[in-house]
Amino acid sequence: MEKDVFCKIIDGEIPSYTLYEDDDVIAILDISQVTRGHTLVISKKHYDNFLACPQEVMHKVMDVAQKIGQAQITRLHAQGVNILTNCYKEAGQTVMHFHVHVIPRYEGSDGFVIEMKENAGDINLPALCESIKEEMR
Ligand code: AMP
Repeated sequence: MEKDVFCKIIDGEIPSYTLYEDDDVIAILDISQVTRGHTLVISKKHYDNFLACPQEVMHKVMDVAQKIGQAQITRLHAQGVNILTNCYKEAGQTVMHFHVHVIPRYEGSDGFVIEMKENAGDINLPALCESIKEEMR
């Protein structure tokens, strides 16, 4: 199987702007810089996405994501931060290797838009709630 781009970065085959690295996690500047400081926090071991990775790895990645978000506020003077992880192609995942986007937000129009449309009208909320709860038991 061909290595994905993050495995190549982790193995030193592709350069990156690395903000943080330990045995389990690496954080790099996203090449697209959706907003100034946009960072990816990546598990070093390959898992396809957030849903496929063990809990302890997910916790380590999220710890680093929190620190980076805090630094974006204090050092980059961001006014907000979005923490985002896409799971599977339908959700916008383009690199099939677990990573979390840490996206600093700046006042006014900073070029990053999330649209959440109100859509509850036709959904049976009690049945939906019960169904998901049952699956998690
Ligand atoms: P996603 O669409 O959630 O899978 O995000 C993948 C992200 O990886 C995108 O935001 C890309 O800009 C970013 N990306 C792809 N290749 C590189 C690279 N070589 N260095 C840094 N970021 C990259």
